[in-house]
Amino acid sequence: MDPRTRLTVLHRRLEACKACPSMIGPVVHGPPIVTPVLLVGQAPGPREGGFGKPFAWTAGKTLFRWFEAAAGVSEQEFRDSVYMSAVARCFPGKAGGGGDRKPDRDEMARCQQFLAGEVDILQPRLVIPVGGVAIEQVLGHKGPLVEVIGEARRIRWHGVEADAICLPHPSGASTWHRVEPGRTLLARALDLIARHPAFVTAFAPNRRAGAA
Ligand code: SF4
Repeated sequence: MDPRTRLTVLHRRLEACKACPSMIGPVVHGPPIVTPVLLVGQAPGPREGGFGKPFAWTAGKTLFRWFEAAAGVSEQEFRDSVYMSAVARCFPGKAGGGGDRKPDRDEMARCQQFLAGEVDILQPRLVIPVGGVAIEQVLGHKGPLVEVIGEARRIRWHGVEADAICLPHPSGASTWHRVEPGRTLLARALDLIARHPAFVTAFAPNRRAGAA
């Protein structure tokens, strides 16, 4: 099977998954695009299921604004060129304080099979973990964001070697990226991503035309 067909098959399995009793469906995933750039988010929010795509609400608006400013790519170009995955694919519900609940360890462990499958199919050369939960999953890093954002790290993840360039979560609940040193580190990370050869390849006009 070619990679696009394999992704489509994986998406059918994802859509049928009901393994986590506390998770709220539907499962959210992007299109089966074959690209060397893999973005890993935390989990969909309450709105993404209705739109049927990841980062479809306020956090997404901020995320796409970052890439528009740093790399000159529109939201649609980004969605057509970067595979958008997540640590968990269903909405975890609200936490006590009113924000979205983080997926728990068992939920992340159950959902990891899908992420591992996507890495195996795509063999990404650039992985972009977004937010602390995704950063921990990809890098195993549990410390402050200042220790990982603004640099590229070589990783071996699910059997694939790639560069990882982390971003903070663009959620409105987080102020990390709006004050120093977060603002400068975010700009540095976005610049590293925009100049990364895999990112440049993913957005090459002939490649996008072929993906359409
Ligand atoms: S979070 Fe992942 S493992 Fe859990 S039900 Fe949703 S798709 Fe399945």
